[in-house]
Amino acid sequence: MRVEFLVPRTVEEAVAVLGDDDALPIGGGIAVALLSNLDLVWATRLVALGRIPELRGVRVRDDNIVLGATTPHGVIADDPVLRAELPELAAMFGHIGNVRVRAWGTVGGNLALAEPSQDPPVLLAALGAELLTMGPAGIRRLPVAELSEGPMTTVLATGELITHVVVPRLGSDERCAYLKFLPKTADDYATVSAGVRLRLDGQTIIEARIFCGSVGPIPVDCAAAAELLVGRSSDDENVLAGLAEAVAEVVTPRSDHRGVRSTSGRWPGCSYGGPSDGRCGGADAGGRCGQREPGRLSDRVTADETPLEVRDPAPRLIPNCVPQIDTRGANGD
Ligand SMILES: Cc1cc2nc3c(=O)[nH]c(=O)nc-3n(C[C@H](O)[C@H](O)[C@H](O)COP(=O)(O)OP(=O)(O)OC[C@H]3O[C@@H](n4cnc5c(N)ncnc54)[C@H](O)[C@@H]3O)c2cc1C
Repeated sequence: MRVEFLVPRTVEEAVAVLGDDDALPIGGGIAVALLSNLDLVWATRLVALGRIPELRGVRVRDDNIVLGATTPHGVIADDPVLRAELPELAAMFGHIGNVRVRAWGTVGGNLALAEPSQDPPVLLAALGAELLTMGPAGIRRLPVAELSEGPMTTVLATGELITHVVVPRLGSDERCAYLKFLPKTADDYATVSAGVRLRLDGQTIIEARIFCGSVGPIPVDCAAAAELLVGRSSDDENVLAGLAEAVAEVVTPRSDHRGVRSTSGRWPGCSYGGPSDGRCGGADAGGRCGQREPGRLSDRVTADETPLEVRDPAPRLIPNCVPQIDTRGANGD
């Protein structure tokens, strides 16, 4: 089979050549390469976005920080403006996977992939970030929290590209944090993660947003838990009381997540480790990670529930995130 590889120089050109389901945009190409090898992604036209200057870089625009969709995780993590403005967000990008993943993986590719264990969707949703997209129907603005409809499935239409991520700057009365818990290695996906944004009036919490990752098919909006924080003092020792229960009400963690060889669990969909029920919800009408034959991965991977030895059970947290909210009850050590 012949595959065309196109390298447009503008977003308009990219949208024009991404016209149908057989075309696939490429950010860093990490997921596309891996999923192609598994025969889960199929395209006759690959459209590399990496040479479009307007899609790359981190900029401050008025009250927002704007991340270009093809900016690699590592570049975002090291950006001096972001590190000064929103160090928690920079730190989160700096703890994605390993150095190779951070060198190639892009924020746009990460979000469009909609893998439920990824980090950026969780903190970006908590921060109230929005996406700018461009497609055949024009430009639209979309909250990050509304992008994913399920594992590896998004609301993006065929030919619609994420062009930028717009992150509101924190006011002087706001705080945010991101915690990533992973028991085995520091360079893996999260077993569970939490992103939090708070607005304070003095010591009193007056607004709160909490999203959890890796514990549901999409980043989980823990609105009821966040509501429990409103009106409470941030230094109130009892502020965590009830929070864990409220979070537990809305999350659906996989019992074996990262603890066994397969990721078989309760969600429809898949992650790199294997399928859950063979549906690998990837192919949406918009062609995001569109697989040719749904369920083929399950034919190849047999569920192996053998527990892996957990050598280092100590949680590893992002060191420079202030663990203001910790549903495990520990204090971020
Ligand atoms: C070993 C390993 C460890 C990892 N660890 C982590 C981790 O700890 N945390 C984490 O969050 N992630 C992790 N990842 C995932 C990684 O961050 C993502 O795979 C990567 O970000 C995908 O980005 P990409 O640019 O390579 O996407 P690509 O492979 O280029 O694209 C992914 C999908 O998005 C589409 N796409 C790409 N760009 C756009 C765009 N601008 N608009 C619309 N659609 C687009 C593609 O068509 C494809 O469907 C890990 C991956 C690996 C391999």
